[in-house]
Amino acid sequence: MVRGVVPRQPAKSGRQDRVRTAAAGTRRAVEGTRVRSKITKAPAVASPAKKSVSGSARYNPLSPERVAEILKRLNQLYPDVTCALHHNNAWELVVATILSAQCTDVRVNMVTPGLFQKYPTVQHFAALKPEELEPDIRSTGFFRNKAKSIVGAAKKVVEEFGGQVPDEMDKLLSLPGVARKTANVVLGSWFGKNEGVVVDTHVHRISRRLELTKNDDPRTIEQDLMKVIPRDRWTLFSHQIIWHGRKTCIARKPKCAECSLENLCHAGDKTWSTVEMHKAAH
Ligand code: SF4
Repeated sequence: MVRGVVPRQPAKSGRQDRVRTAAAGTRRAVEGTRVRSKITKAPAVASPAKKSVSGSARYNPLSPERVAEILKRLNQLYPDVTCALHHNNAWELVVATILSAQCTDVRVNMVTPGLFQKYPTVQHFAALKPEELEPDIRSTGFFRNKAKSIVGAAKKVVEEFGGQVPDEMDKLLSLPGVARKTANVVLGSWFGKNEGVVVDTHVHRISRRLELTKNDDPRTIEQDLMKVIPRDRWTLFSHQIIWHGRKTCIARKPKCAECSLENLCHAGDKTWSTVEMHKAAH
């Protein structure tokens, strides 16, 4: 006899169906167990795959493989991006970058054509008083401070650097109103030198969302990025992230459903997700 097969019992009461019912019940119970075991087993098969992209102990947001994949996708998305601030020489880029603080690049690009027509060289700017420059840059915000910085930087470039914007970090940082962000923009975009990573509002936000940094201070974020992004990608990475921030990963409502980085991103403020979200990543 095959094990587990219960022979049909002769009916004592003539109600054979009780036996059938019991057997059917047993069968159903066994099948039910099998079905249940299938249901309970399914996630066990699926979970390792999910864990590999989410919050398992092995997940490392800074792993070279993950960073390389992010860079690869950024290359596919934005192969030829450059600095969004219009400029024709290093000095114009210094001015445009100073003006871009707390202001959109679009607004700066509306202001600079007229400005550079009115004051075509660094010597023209150096000859101004800040108050004379203020009306021309008023619409970019914080115009008093920006006017002081631009005129002060122009004077220093003319008086100490022979009218040439220096191509070294230390010298650039000595110009009034020029901090690391402006210096990195000028060195990377005009002089082709990867001396650092530009950390503007987009790079700040998206680096945190992608868990490439946990920090909040631009200088520390830059150091974190310089550790994980290959040096030859520093300038391009900044441009690509800035474009991504403008087009897709916008501050308030990132367009996660149409983002090519979606399944690599665990940001806590995603608007749509196929992977586990990490609260702290935003
Ligand atoms: S998935 Fe969303 S939050 Fe993450 S990078 Fe893309 S747009 Fe930004």
